[in-house]
Amino acid sequence: MNKLYYRYGAMNSGKTTLLLQVAHNYEEREMKVLILKPGIDTKGDNKIVTRIGLSREVDHLILPDEDLSVYLKSISNDISCVLVDESQFLSKEQIDELYKFTKLKNISVICYGLRSDFKTNAFPGSKRLFEVADVMEEMYTTCRCGKRAKFNARIVNGEFTSSGDQVAIDGENEVSYESLCGKCYLEKVLKITDYDYDKENNSIKDRLRIYKEEIKKNNKLTSKTLKKEKKTILIKLRDELNKNLHKNEYTRKLK
Ligand SMILES: [Zn+2]
Repeated sequence: MNKLYYRYGAMNSGKTTLLLQVAHNYEEREMKVLILKPGIDTKGDNKIVTRIGLSREVDHLILPDEDLSVYLKSISNDISCVLVDESQFLSKEQIDELYKFTKLKNISVICYGLRSDFKTNAFPGSKRLFEVADVMEEMYTTCRCGKRAKFNARIVNGEFTSSGDQVAIDGENEVSYESLCGKCYLEKVLKITDYDYDKENNSIKDRLRIYKEEIKKNNKLTSKTLKKEKKTILIKLRDELNKNLHKNEYTRKLK
């Protein structure tokens, strides 16, 4: 039985280059492949283009609302493999058609694509592929710090940004991308450099909340009555407060 593969990674992880290499390997053994890509990826028009300069015309451009089953049913049985570039841009329905094709026509489909967008959310196509693909393989690229890059950060006019539409093609309208590891993504894009970045605010809020709760629990001890109470009761209340504060600090760190 043939399989639906999803080979995913951040930008620059060599996905398109590998696709062309796989096509070459099949053809060298005189086996036929078909190459598909979504029309939404305007880079290179009807060609797929790699960052290292290789390019090749695709056999079929998939339009955004296209019923892919029509094309897939027309594929002759002598095809050994279907390769899909930028498959994150396909719809859920189109991925489902590719899945059916692998099982009903007994031809493997290898999809290449991104894991997530510049806000770290899945694309419709990648989400569906993670749900249904028979085999998933991660491809790697390196972050500027040397770690494995997982995310695609969008750069507009030289600045990292975390707002905007999901799709903005690389190289158009001053948009470019950089692959970053999780830590660099937090630091460079979300500007979060310290785990306890809002510790001070939380501490003050927590203290006020706990103090109010304690006062409520010990409602006899209003500020008025406190003055009249013995020193030991005040010490007990202070100890309780400190204990709860400590507990609160601890559980907050675990979240
Ligand atoms: Zn990094």
